Amino acid sequence: RVKKSWICKCSAKPSADKTAYKTKVSRNENMGKLQAGYLFPEIKRRRAAHMLKFPDAQVISLGIGDITEPIPEVIASAMAKRSKSLATIKGYSGYGAEQGEKLLRATIASTFYANLGIGEHDVFISDGAKNDISRLQVLFGSDVTVAVQDPSYPAYVDSGVIMGQTGRYQNNVGYGNIEYMKCSPDNDFFPDLSSVSRADVIFFCSPNNPTGSAASRNQLTQLVQFAKDNGSIIIYDSAYALYMSDDSPKSIFEIPGAKEVAIEISSFSKYAGFTGVRLGWTVVPKELQFSDGFPVAKDFNRIVCTCFNGASNIAQAGGLACLSPEGLEAMQEVIGFYKENTHIIIETFKSLGFNVYGGKNAPYVWVHFPGQNSWDLFEEILEKTHVVTIPGSGFGPGGEGFIRVSAFGHRANVLEACKRFKELYK
Ligand code: PLP
Repeated sequence: RVKKSWICKCSAKPSADKTAYKTKVSRNENMGKLQAGYLFPEIKRRRAAHMLKFPDAQVISLGIGDITEPIPEVIASAMAKRSKSLATIKGYSGYGAEQGEKLLRATIASTFYANLGIGEHDVFISDGAKNDISRLQVLFGSDVTVAVQDPSYPAYVDSGVIMGQTGRYQNNVGYGNIEYMKCSPDNDFFPDLSSVSRADVIFFCSPNNPTGSAASRNQLTQLVQFAKDNGSIIIYDSAYALYMSDDSPKSIFEIPGAKEVAIEISSFSKYAGFTGVRLGWTVVPKELQFSDGFPVAKDFNRIVCTCFNGASNIAQAGGLACLSPEGLEAMQEVIGFYKENTHIIIETFKSLGFNVYGGKNAPYVWVHFPGQNSWDLFEEILEKTHVVTIPGSGFGPGGEGFIRVSAFGHRANVLEACKRFKELYK
């Protein structure tokens, strides 16, 4: 018999005219500066509203850029094995090193940074690049000035707003006190550094989300020189480096001198389908110093030890499997699949007469609709084709007039979405 004594009945009726109890804690005023919700939950909210309105529609998401294909077997089974061993006395492990397991740190250094002077101790394992973006913001604090590519991945700006680095938001301009480095077809998606004001910290993502463009060796050399001239620190996001088709650098540390001015964040999310598993890394070279000569890596280590207890041991076993010869091959296969999707999307929009950017070095296609409002375009595409994209202006004022189409999708869905785009824009 089920005991029902745990059910508690609420006798007070909610009253519309009585305001709810308020604490005496004042809201962090920086939170009040943030514009609406974070971009991707907002897209999910609009998708859900659309599905309520059209319950029978087959909605296809080429929006937020989540992985759709399964984790390769060789990688998943390494995680299963580690997971099972946790049930044994011999195999159990609890808290690990906050910086990550020694072998994984060393393997990341030798796989991605061989001959670049990056060693095991420069690599910090994380539970994802986004999480480390916020930890880096805590490291730098609220007094730094920040520059970002415009458009760019929204976590850089939003985390800076939360830290109190910025002023208020102004429509079509962005947040005060942020240096928006315009990246458009007019400048080959690389900022005109002669017109960029000095900032302490420069976020730079290549291949870029959302534009899909990758900076060339010559452009990155200019960026490193710019940072050196200004005494700035670059936070270089290489989360899509393995999607590169041309010989653009896969790491900022390929540029001579970068170790004195750059940190690199990266992730297994888009390589191995780890968006749910959560594993990434951050490289803070020992050569990088603050103005008083204190090593940045020492402070980052202190932040990691305070704000983080290390990445999941199961995820780290997965990371090691990713970097085995079989794992690397399996990741390349999945990346190759998404690159074929990218090609299908590019050809579709090109055949419809659009100017299309990106795609070659990243799983994102950046489609130009000159003079049009991105959110209106997003709504029109969703309403008429039931395909979720992302409005370019969600990535910064410089994204206005563009739509980002993600290549992460099952092949049948990508083909169907492209068929619908052709019907809409024929
Ligand atoms: N950096 C960029 C440029 C991204 O596009 C993303 C995810 O879309 C991330 C970082 C987040 O990566 P992670 O899943 O490792 O937090």
